[in-house]
Amino acid sequence: MYSDHLHKFNQILPSSNILTDPDITSSFCTDHRNRYHGEAFAVLQPDNVDAIQKIMRYCHQHHIPVTPQGGNTGLCGGATPHSSISKQGIILSLSKLNRLRNLSYDDNTITVEAGMILADLQTEARNAGLYFPLSLASEGSCQIGGNIACNAGGVNVVRYGTTRDLVIGLEYVLPTGELISHLQPLHKNTSGYEMRQIIIGSEGTLAIITAATLKLFAQPLSILTAWIGIDTIQTAIDLLQRLRNQFSDRISSFELISSQALKLSSSYSQLQPPTEAAWHILLELTDSIPNQNLTDPLISVLEQGNWLNTVIAQSETERNQLWKLRENISEAQRHLGASIKHDIALPIEYIADFVEHSQQQLQQAFPHAQTILFGHLGDGSLHYNVFLGDTLNNDVYQHEDNINKIVYECVIKHHGTVAAEHGIGQLKTQWIPQIRTQSEINWMRIQKQTLDPHNILNMGKVLPPLP
Ligand SMILES: Cc1cc2nc3c(=O)[nH]c(=O)nc-3n(C[C@H](O)[C@H](O)[C@H](O)COP(=O)(O)OP(=O)(O)OC[C@H]3O[C@@H](n4cnc5c(N)ncnc54)[C@H](O)[C@@H]3O)c2cc1C
Repeated sequence: MYSDHLHKFNQILPSSNILTDPDITSSFCTDHRNRYHGEAFAVLQPDNVDAIQKIMRYCHQHHIPVTPQGGNTGLCGGATPHSSISKQGIILSLSKLNRLRNLSYDDNTITVEAGMILADLQTEARNAGLYFPLSLASEGSCQIGGNIACNAGGVNVVRYGTTRDLVIGLEYVLPTGELISHLQPLHKNTSGYEMRQIIIGSEGTLAIITAATLKLFAQPLSILTAWIGIDTIQTAIDLLQRLRNQFSDRISSFELISSQALKLSSSYSQLQPPTEAAWHILLELTDSIPNQNLTDPLISVLEQGNWLNTVIAQSETERNQLWKLRENISEAQRHLGASIKHDIALPIEYIADFVEHSQQQLQQAFPHAQTILFGHLGDGSLHYNVFLGDTLNNDVYQHEDNINKIVYECVIKHHGTVAAEHGIGQLKTQWIPQIRTQSEINWMRIQKQTLDPHNILNMGKVLPPLP
C-alpha cells in the first residue's frame, strides 16, 4: 500500500527528498517539547510549489493525511501527526522551499518562500538596509511559513503587531492541490473576501503556505534597552501607561519577567541578574533616526514613579546580555524538565488581578506548584508555566487537566484567551468551546469542510472533536 504511494512520490520528488528511515523520520515525528510522538510512513521535502500541488492532489485523491511542518518549534503539538493517524500519513516538510523571491524598495516589502528560517529573513532585510521586526527566541529554527500558520507574536508586537499585521500577500496550496497566489504588495485591496486572513493562524489545517510578501521597516538606529526591577505587576502596568504617553510607538518591547524566571535563566545563561526585585521589565525603545536621546526622557519618567532600580545597557554587549536573560527562559525551563504550559492573553487591566487569583487557587490545590511567569506584558500576553515540585518528567501531565481548569477558568473569568500566540495545535482543542461561541465553531467547521472535504490536512488539530 505505502509502496504505491512512495512510487508516486518518487515521480514527483528526487528520492533524496523522500525520507522513510525511522531513525531519520523520528525527529520529524516528535515535537519540540518531546511530548507528542506521531508516526508517518514518509517525510516529503519538496523544494518547489509545483511539487507541493502534485503531492496534495494525490493525497486528496487517496485520502492520505498530511501534516505540514516548518521548523518544528511549535509548542502545541501542531506540527507532528496526530496519534489517531498512526502510520497512514505523511509529513510535508517545507524546509527546502526557502528562497528569496523578491525585495521591493519602492513598496518596502520582501517576498520569500515559506521554508525560509526567520533569522535568515531578518538577515535578508538587514542586508538590504531594512528591518523585519518579527522576533522570537526560536528564530534560529522556526520558519516564516510556520510563523504565519501560527500568527506568531514575539517581542516586538507592542510596536509592529503580530505576524498577521506584517503579511501583505500570501501564496498557498489548498488540500485539493489548487494554488492561490496573491503576492502583490498591495496595501489596499477591497475586492471581496480576504481569504489570506483565514489562512493566517489556521495552523496548517486549511492550506499549505508556500510564500508570503511581508512588510519591511526602517532599521532602528537609536536603541535604548533597560532592565527595571519593580515590586508588583500593577506597578509595571502603571509604568507602561506612563511610557506610552511619553514614547508612543517608540516602545518596541515591554517584557515581564518574574524573579523565579530570572533566577532560572541567569543560572542557565551564567549571567548575573541585573536587578533584585519580585518582578522585572525588559524595555526597549527604538527610533529610526540616529543619535536620538531616549535616555533623558526615560530617566525623567522613571524618576516620576520612583522606578530607580534600573539598569540601562551601555553597549551592544550589555544589550545582548539583557536579551539573553529573557530569551533563554524557554530553554532554561526545557533543561529543568516538563511543566504545564499556558500561553495566555488578557486585557492588560486585568492581568495583576488574574495573577493574584490564579496563584492563590493553584497554591491551594497544589502546594508544591511553582509558576515560571514571563511574557509580553506590553501586548497583554503571558507565558504561565507550572512546575510541580520534583515531578519534572512527563508524569506531570497527569495533573494537566486539573491545573488547566484552575488557570484557564481564571483566564476566561478575566476576559482573556487560552491561546495568545502558540496556537491550539492538538494541545488545547477541548478548550475551543470555552473561548469561541457555537456559531463561530460552526463557521470554522464549514470553512474546513469546504477547503478540505476529506479532512486530510493536519487532522486532529485546532477544531474540537465532533461530539
Ligand atoms: C524557545 C522558543 C521560544 C518561542 N517563543 C515564541 C514567541 O515569543 N512567540 C510565538 O508566537 N511563538 C513562540 N514560540 C513558538 C514557535 O516557535 C512559533 O509558534 C513558530 O511560529 C513556529 O514556527 P515553526 O516553523 O517552527 O512551525 P512548526 O512548529 O513546524 O509548525 C507550527 C504549526 O504551523 C503549521 N505549519 C508550519 N509550516 C506551515 C506551512 N508552510 N503551511 C501551513 N502550515 C504550516 C504546522 O502544521 C503546525 O500546526 C517559541 C518556541 C520556542 C521553542
